[in-house]
Amino acid sequence: MYDENNIFAKILRKEISCDIFFEDEKVLFFHDINPQAKIHILAIPKLPVVDFNDFILNADQEMIKYFFNKINDVANEMGLTKTGFRLVTNNGKDANQEVPHFHIHLLGGENLKGIK
Ligand code: AMP
Repeated sequence: MYDENNIFAKILRKEISCDIFFEDEKVLFFHDINPQAKIHILAIPKLPVVDFNDFILNADQEMIKYFFNKINDVANEMGLTKTGFRLVTNNGKDANQEVPHFHIHLLGGENLKGIK
């Protein structure tokens, strides 16, 4: 079940600030507070979904398409479609997902060898 008190829910409600890269009515992109690469952006849908599995099962097809297209747009804007990038999502306990609001990590800006 979705926890309305998770930190990304608080960010979406503007109770906690973040370093926003892009926002519209459907999605929010912001810089990770503990970046693992020169560019480390978190992409989240504005939906109460816990993880990738929840998102795919419960979001409508239009939203799923919109979200992943927007990730590609942002990667492109940052020049990453030329240089390369990595998308990561941690889903659940064995993946050590820390924040229970579905998010994709967008990593790039340098060679990612040795970076998870
Ligand atoms: P995960 O382990 O996939 O759930 O990743 C959670 C990510 O959220 C980590 O990379 C954290 O550094 C990041 N994070 C946690 N709190 C914040 C915050 N307030 N602003 C930005 N990033 C955060």
